[in-house]
Amino acid sequence: MWGWKKRKSMSNLTEEQTLRNAGVRVTAVRLLVWRTVCKEFTGIFNLADLEEALPTVDKSTLFRTLGLFSDSHLLDTIDDGTGSQKYCLRSADDPLSGVRHVHFSCRLCHKTVCLTNIPLPEVSLPEGFTVENVEYVAKGVCPQCALKGWTRLDKT
Ligand SMILES: [Zn+2]
Ligand SMILES: [Zn+2]
Repeated sequence: MWGWKKRKSMSNLTEEQTLRNAGVRVTAVRLLVWRTVCKEFTGIFNLADLEEALPTVDKSTLFRTLGLFSDSHLLDTIDDGTGSQKYCLRSADDPLSGVRHVHFSCRLCHKTVCLTNIPLPEVSLPEGFTVENVEYVAKGVCPQCALKGWTRLDKT
């Protein structure tokens, strides 16, 4: 029991420090949201998932906090074409590393997953173009659906 308690408080310190290092002014609600994101979501999530995890926090506060975290490069935003903005941790081990990864969206089960081991490819644009954000969402059929043989069924 002791060991668990000790570990928990240590990791809380780190979470607060992570926010500070990202330039986020730490407030109780921001820390709560950040902790929830780190603890509850291993992959992609959206505002509704966060609302469900934190029913006591006002929805617009949650939305603004997610925006702040993505502006501070703690979270990545993903538009997988479903119309709902999705978020994920840039890196669960090291949220501040800044290494962004590729996402894959399955057209059969409509799941979007993080391919955390695959960094975003570098694209150099012609002069005069200022990049503000790059998203890389590969689309196709995920291994689970491919196994079910849905690809063949779906072809007709
Ligand atoms: Zn699938
Ligand atoms: Zn991701």
